[in-house]
Amino acid sequence: MGLAARILEQAPTEDFRDMIHDEVDKWVDQIIDEVFEDGKEPTIMELSQLFSETKQEFFGACFQALIEQKYAGLLEQEYAPCPQCGKMCKKRRDHLKEIVTMQGPSALKRPWFYCVNCSYGFLPLDKTLEISRKKNQFDVQRKATRTAAEVPFSSGSELFAELTDHCVSDHFMHDTFEQVGEYACLEDAIPSDQEIAARCQEMTESSWRPVLVVASDGAHVPTRLKAKRNEKRGKGQWQEAKGFRIYLVGKDRIVHLASWHQIQNEEQFGEDLSFVASRIPQANLRIGLLGDGADWLWKHMVACFPKGRQILDYFHCAEHIHKVAKLQYGEKSQKCLEWVESTLTRLFYSEVDNVIWGLQRMPPRDSLAKEEIRKLIGYLQNNRERIHYRGDRIGGYPIGSGGIESANKFICHTRMKRSGAWWVKETGNAMLRIRCAIYNGTYDKVFDKYKKNQIPL
Ligand SMILES: [Zn+2]
Repeated sequence: MGLAARILEQAPTEDFRDMIHDEVDKWVDQIIDEVFEDGKEPTIMELSQLFSETKQEFFGACFQALIEQKYAGLLEQEYAPCPQCGKMCKKRRDHLKEIVTMQGPSALKRPWFYCVNCSYGFLPLDKTLEISRKKNQFDVQRKATRTAAEVPFSSGSELFAELTDHCVSDHFMHDTFEQVGEYACLEDAIPSDQEIAARCQEMTESSWRPVLVVASDGAHVPTRLKAKRNEKRGKGQWQEAKGFRIYLVGKDRIVHLASWHQIQNEEQFGEDLSFVASRIPQANLRIGLLGDGADWLWKHMVACFPKGRQILDYFHCAEHIHKVAKLQYGEKSQKCLEWVESTLTRLFYSEVDNVIWGLQRMPPRDSLAKEEIRKLIGYLQNNRERIHYRGDRIGGYPIGSGGIESANKFICHTRMKRSGAWWVKETGNAMLRIRCAIYNGTYDKVFDKYKKNQIPL
């Protein structure tokens, strides 16, 4: 290689270095002006604030310099093949794009091509760099969406600015969130076959006869119909978000496999559960199915996990017992506590018929108590075969879905049931899908799918 060639080859990196040095000088000038004025003695907080205020512009400029040098070829390109038909097209004009990344604002003037055959305009640089059509780039969108999954959109944008020194509007947050949510489908939000198989394998090797627990339940979410622009908000209505959590219980630990919740009907719930069941290698696992009394839920759990042991959730069951005791004997009375205690003990030892017999002979205190007693008898009769807590304990099966209850609280309630929040069903479901993905550890995959669909050909 001749000397001239080597100098040429080094040029882009050296150019880059020079450009960065220029930016550093600009930044240093700013700092000097602010800090070294006579008599000034800024504190740590003031200095940090100064850095926060100046770094976006500084880094944004560095970022831009880097792209300009690294992708000089694409920026100066005069001809490019059409991505649809392959025809060589001549550059029509330069197109200025202002972008904002987590590093700050940058501007890129890149060539725009147009294929007359296909009536198709394209920007090769955008494809290579995966530039978003939005001004805020995917790194910002990813973090903004993650933030909005935790806190309401309005406080989300405030919090985002507070923590990142980067302003995004709540409208942008809401918009992006909904778009990402559209791509958060069940297939991606649930760990892959391989991932699930690996977790099962690992548990089987480290624990003696682990139990796969499938716990389902419903939670009511406040929803409203979508109102048109300038129209009054739709009327509110509580709808059921149906969901399940699947996890492995070993000797001394729990390994999460998958959570999924949606405001949906029973049939869709069944389809979703069946899809997830198909990813789980059931053959070598003992399976426990946990749920409250709802019939729809058992139907689908049994269909998807035929060899599962059905267990009526102990805590749901206890709630029903408490309700009767309260109405019949008065809250927290001695009699109330005694009756609850003895009833739960009998249920623990599978003496369901015994409890039903007692209830049938219980003279109700009033009409309210009478109605609750009647309901409890029906509930116990319906779930008779699912009450065997002592045997469950001995076999190492969980008797209460503390697991799903807390997952539901985390996924559903904490974000969905904030006071004053009424969800349009679609947005509510997008929220649930994204929160499930976060909980399942698949958020990156979900975001990636969204990103791929936003990038031009
Ligand atoms: Zn073409």
